[in-house]
Amino acid sequence: MEDDLGQFKERIAWFREKKPAYRQVLDFYEGIWEAQNEIKTTIDIPPVEIEENLKKIKLREGFSLLNKEDFHVDVLTAQKIFESVLRLEEKAPPRLREEMEKIKQAILHKALDIATVLSNYLDEKFLQDTAYQLKIDYPALSFLVRTSVESSVKANVRQFREPITMDIWSKGYCPICGSAPCMALFGKDGGKRYVLCSFCGYEWQIQRLTCPFCGNKDHKTLHYFFAEGNEGYRVDLCDQCHQYIKTVDSRNLDYEPVLALEDLLTLHLDILASQQGFQRPTSAVWAP
Ligand SMILES: [Zn+2]
Ligand SMILES: [Zn+2]
Repeated sequence: MEDDLGQFKERIAWFREKKPAYRQVLDFYEGIWEAQNEIKTTIDIPPVEIEENLKKIKLREGFSLLNKEDFHVDVLTAQKIFESVLRLEEKAPPRLREEMEKIKQAILHKALDIATVLSNYLDEKFLQDTAYQLKIDYPALSFLVRTSVESSVKANVRQFREPITMDIWSKGYCPICGSAPCMALFGKDGGKRYVLCSFCGYEWQIQRLTCPFCGNKDHKTLHYFFAEGNEGYRVDLCDQCHQYIKTVDSRNLDYEPVLALEDLLTLHLDILASQQGFQRPTSAVWAP
């Protein structure tokens, strides 16, 4: 996705025709992805050092290579993205638009310093307190902050491009940062199952009949339902931890899916899963 914005925009245009109900949200996200992409090459972060031997030991013992705290963020670039996204206010979903306006005012009146907020992006308590003091909706602030640091976070992972294969790592949490996945995919390569990390965007392969969140392998307590009339999408549910993950079955689609975009276009499946009492352990995209 990030490497080919042109192809990505083409896919968005196609979805706009196919799913008119999602037009506004697609416009908004397209603006976000453009803002992130525009500035990607200017991201300036030092490489994360990890010694080859330690890498092997960590993976063998089931430890992720990094902790979230090890990730470098280019605050200046993140701030530029934050400002660009604020300029997309008109395209934003209504509830978010209101919060963006409040944030703009807070910045204007020097009640909010974006660089400080972005430097503390991992400190949930700090973000909650800031939102509370400024009477800004916390999920809205958190969404904008995440969106702004995302490109930096992903830049840290670029050096780990070589795939970590299943014989080395088959855990449900990310081998790079230890976070839970936000989406799953059955590949066109015979239906191998891949998951996408909710924090760093790394993709890795996991076993098909396993809950990525609690490791449950008992087929009696693992089930799924398909999206109505479309076997390209399904929701995998686990009765043991009561969590779910959306899965895109690329074998039933006539195009190559981009998971971040598919996540956005399947919000109705998040609603269905939550109505059945299942939770999503990672933040959902901003609901329109
Ligand atoms: Zn990760
Ligand atoms: Zn589970």
